[in-house]
Amino acid sequence: MRLASTLDARLHALLGDRAVDLTDALDLVPGAGGPLLSFLERGGTLDELRSLDLDTLPARAAGALRLAAPLARPGKVVGAPVNYLDHKAEMGEQRTIADYGVFLKASSSVIGHGGLIRLPYTDVRTDHEGELGVVIGREASRVPAERALEHVFGYVPLLDITVRSGEDRSTRKSFDTFTPIGPWVTTADEVPDPGSLELRCWVGAELRQRASTADLIYGVAELIAYTSHVMTLHPGDVIATGTPAGVGPVAAGDQVAVEIEGLGRLEVGVSDERAIAYATRPGQR
Ligand code: MN
Repeated sequence: MRLASTLDARLHALLGDRAVDLTDALDLVPGAGGPLLSFLERGGTLDELRSLDLDTLPARAAGALRLAAPLARPGKVVGAPVNYLDHKAEMGEQRTIADYGVFLKASSSVIGHGGLIRLPYTDVRTDHEGELGVVIGREASRVPAERALEHVFGYVPLLDITVRSGEDRSTRKSFDTFTPIGPWVTTADEVPDPGSLELRCWVGAELRQRASTADLIYGVAELIAYTSHVMTLHPGDVIATGTPAGVGPVAAGDQVAVEIEGLGRLEVGVSDERAIAYATRPGQR
């Protein structure tokens, strides 16, 4: 099932060109995180979604939906550094997750399909990183890799936007608008193998990244096993699984798109409207 949150805080199942509104049937009371997060936080499952008789629910044309981020404010967004061999090489990295562990991105950095990445600095490079996003569906604490996929609710295209400056990753990747996700979440039952998906990322018409998730150094199950050994993963948490080679700068006016086989195509714009010179940022002394 493809699940889309809309700007009017409704949750929809997308069935071809039809969008079925699940909000009332699921008794959802969306908070700041939107309707899908409310559903997951109250223990909603795929089985519950499957029990709905979609033909009896209100529907409208899918093309008329005004999409929001499928999860507007996840409990946490976990990131995987250096998780494709070709990206490791292009960054001149010797180390991987085995050395770095994982990092956190602020959940306030999430935007949805059609949103706008806001560049913070006029004179420091900001890069796109196209990634597979994993949405947790069931609490995970110290789960072994063999059971890790049981904790996945679904998958979503994601951009891990990153400033190439000297600060810690959690700062460079947490600016507002730096975690576009969407356009919708595809439930895990429709993704038999998250380790064999084609991922492509464009800036304008230029194809910048093309890879298979088969080339992940730490696959989805291993990432969940490692991360849940450090921190409990809660329903609605998101894992950004890492980016392949081809990362590069984005500039004001660009359209950035990431498309993952079977999961849809996420597109966002780029603006420098409130960008400042790096040397004039607050906190300099
Ligand atoms: Mn990344």
